[in-house]
Amino acid sequence: MMRKVPDIKYTKLFINNEFVDSASGKTFPTINPTTGNVITKVSEGDKADVDKAVAAAKQAFSRGSAWRNMNASARGKLMNKFADLIARDTEYIATLETFDNGKTYANAVFDIEASIEVIRYYAGWCDKIFGDTIPADGNLVTFTRKEPVGVVGQIIPWNYPFLMLAWKWGPALATGCTLVLKPAEQTPLTALYAAALAKEAGFPPGVVNVITGYGPTAGAAIAEHPDIRKIAFTGSTEVGHLIMAASAKNNLKRVSLELGGKSPLVVFDDVDVKEAAEIAYNAIFANHGQNCCAGSRTFVHAKVYDQFVTCAKQLALKTKVGDPFDPVTQQGPQIDQDMFDKVLGLIKSGQEEGAVLEAGGERQGKLGYFVKPTVFSNVTDDMRIAKEEIFGPVQTILKFETMDEVIERANNTNYGLASGILTKDIDKALVFAQAVQAGSVWINCYDAITPQTPFGGFKQSGIGRELGSEGLKEYLETKTVSIKVPTRN
Ligand code: NAD
Repeated sequence: MMRKVPDIKYTKLFINNEFVDSASGKTFPTINPTTGNVITKVSEGDKADVDKAVAAAKQAFSRGSAWRNMNASARGKLMNKFADLIARDTEYIATLETFDNGKTYANAVFDIEASIEVIRYYAGWCDKIFGDTIPADGNLVTFTRKEPVGVVGQIIPWNYPFLMLAWKWGPALATGCTLVLKPAEQTPLTALYAAALAKEAGFPPGVVNVITGYGPTAGAAIAEHPDIRKIAFTGSTEVGHLIMAASAKNNLKRVSLELGGKSPLVVFDDVDVKEAAEIAYNAIFANHGQNCCAGSRTFVHAKVYDQFVTCAKQLALKTKVGDPFDPVTQQGPQIDQDMFDKVLGLIKSGQEEGAVLEAGGERQGKLGYFVKPTVFSNVTDDMRIAKEEIFGPVQTILKFETMDEVIERANNTNYGLASGILTKDIDKALVFAQAVQAGSVWINCYDAITPQTPFGGFKQSGIGRELGSEGLKEYLETKTVSIKVPTRN
């Protein structure tokens, strides 16, 4: 079943519509997490390359440039063409993604299709972004213009490499910005392929640039760059702090952050427990638990707790873990050795702190970074597995009795990305929806993320929103134009 690595066409930096070597000539390996083997080597960008890419993006954004002169509707057509090319090459891109990331091929296809939807959604916005006319005091006619913020820097993680690129490029291109994107060092391949497709679609040189490389070098150079007007980051809360500090120290670039989470999913006692366990299973185990909005604290009402734990355990035990290209596989490897070690370390802490290990708890096989789907019951709020983002296939099941109690416990975290509640009682659902401190509340479902709906975090889960019309705001400046008139009417 194990497929052969496809022909890898692009491994160099993409600057000004050309693939080029890094200034230093250095490269770095990208690893297949299924085997631990090197797939290929990719150019290692650093500050000098970021400078070059930003200069190209600045030129592409300059007054009178092809991009600035383009009709907004033509921008929309280009974006749709880009989406068509992604659709044409879905199989290739998904194959590359599965090799580089380890997610199942079916999930990779799902990600690519979701990316196409996001690009098309934002393509439709291009010629529908406009300001207001405002009844200002005095003899004035006043209107606002919505203008692109300029050159934007975008830094994305490895868990949804292509989809996160689409979330970032969609609003940036729709608003008429130019961009420099750095994919995660673990998963650089599909971003480089996306760059080639952007060129093929016909985006003018410099509009889209991709610098592959490491966070503290290439990433930091983007965060610090004085000519970048806005930065969009998805990744850890720890690095989110660094991005914000770099902006504060340098040019006060606008900052939007999508960070970690420890999202609560609350299961009341009036539900079909088997169905609820399935929703909770997908909420935590999707993408091998490597999901910023994973339902990583499952709060279950005391009355159905034992029954729920039994169902959760069965689901975890029957999960097919293995070769991500095998159609029966539900869970592939974790992304790399570091994450593999981190997940196993947290599992160990759960055992040491007294949680009951119902399933999993160890590596699977000898090759690659596979972790057995793990379920802990009898978890209490003070345990590390209940407080820290594990980012792996580990379900923690906590017991609760009352609504007030569960709201307080759900909110007792520095995170606030997502949340869910499963109940047939609309009053309960709406009490929770109002009280929970989270950017998304999913009632009787989970991960209901669509191109039209804003997504982002309260508290230290982030700043700003992606997707929907709100996602555009992050890439726009508002300019107020006031014209004096002799009389008003
Ligand atoms: P990370 O935050 O270190 O990496 C994310 C991106 O930021 C990568 O492109 C990386 O190269 C870049 N980066 C790293 N250091 C940087 C710096 N100093 N300046 C600028 N850019 C920098 O995340 P990680 O190491 O891949 O994973 C660590 C933890 O982050 C995980 O355990 C998980 O908790 C969390 N995480 C969250 C998400 C999410 O979607 N919210 C995604 C991946 C990881």
